[in-house]
Amino acid sequence: METIFSKILRGEVPCLKVYEDDLVLAFLDIGPLTRGHVLVIPKEPAERLDQLSDESAAAIGRVLPRLCRAVKRVTGVDQYNVLENNGPRAHQAVFHVHFHIIPKPNESEGLGVGWRPGKLEGGEALASDLRAALEG
Ligand code: 5GP
Repeated sequence: METIFSKILRGEVPCLKVYEDDLVLAFLDIGPLTRGHVLVIPKEPAERLDQLSDESAAAIGRVLPRLCRAVKRVTGVDQYNVLENNGPRAHQAVFHVHFHIIPKPNESEGLGVGWRPGKLEGGEALASDLRAALEG
């Protein structure tokens, strides 16, 4: 699917680049939640994380901690969230895989998370189903 990030990757829309290699581009988010909010995207045009190739996933995984260290160092903020949304219900607005690195300088700034833990029930069957799905 054509997205604003495809245009950024082709150089048709400008971005403030932070990092680039053969498979990955990282740049500043245009609407930062906090200073230092960086987006990390694969060059591969996958919409959701489950559609991404192992090669691109590995390339992102390899560079993410390094980018987090740079964000920490430059912002002076030692706590942060890494977020990756999949699907509009899950808050995805741009349909090209992207990881957010979002510094969390204090309680009120940065990512707010609504986290209502439930109770794990039927866990053995669920874990078993997931293991089987990984084999398939
Ligand atoms: P999502 O909700 O899809 O996880 O986040 C999409 C992110 O892309 C948002 O944080 C938004 O600010 C950012 N964004 C959207 N359009 C542009 C753009 O043209 N340039 C940059 N640098 N970021 C963008």
